[in-house]
Amino acid sequence: MPSQTSPSPVCPGCGGPARSVADTVADPAPPHADVADLTDRLAKAPAVASRGTTALHAGEGLIMAGVGLALAHGGLTGHATVPLVGGLLLALIALAGTALVVRNETRGRAAVTAGEARAEALWQPAYHCPGCASVFCPGGEPWQGRLTPEQFRKLVWTEAGYGGELEEGARAALVPPGTLPRPRGAQDHV
Ligand SMILES: [Zn+2]
Repeated sequence: MPSQTSPSPVCPGCGGPARSVADTVADPAPPHADVADLTDRLAKAPAVASRGTTALHAGEGLIMAGVGLALAHGGLTGHATVPLVGGLLLALIALAGTALVVRNETRGRAAVTAGEARAEALWQPAYHCPGCASVFCPGGEPWQGRLTPEQFRKLVWTEAGYGGELEEGARAALVPPGTLPRPRGAQDHV
């Protein structure tokens, strides 16, 4: 759904019409063949597991641990060593794995929540030009220049504090120095 609040700005690179990044991500309209992954390339934040998904993973892990304990209990009452040891091992691995998954998912969610406002401030005003595949902010506010979608995503994610979540390939993108103006306070004392 196109936004009706502002007129479409013209791309400073090729002079073509640009769409806001928010609209582009919400509806990566054809005519370009490579739009399929635009939503990912311009994403404001990494996809994180919802609370419900984490609860589901925890539930699955606990069921596995329960199966292991039942097996171990059967081994104990039947004086069989293999199911006893195997069951205990299964329970331990299930619990450790579940703890790790739950911790990682919770951390990822917390990082995205913590950086949300900062990411939003850099991401929301940005426009994407489908003609030359560049991202820019009309008027150079709050950041200036033209970036590739990869550079743009790195800028947003890094500033939001979850740059570490970028895939290895995406980390290689270099954001040109001066894209983000220095905070005013830093220049006042010169
Ligand atoms: Zn352009």
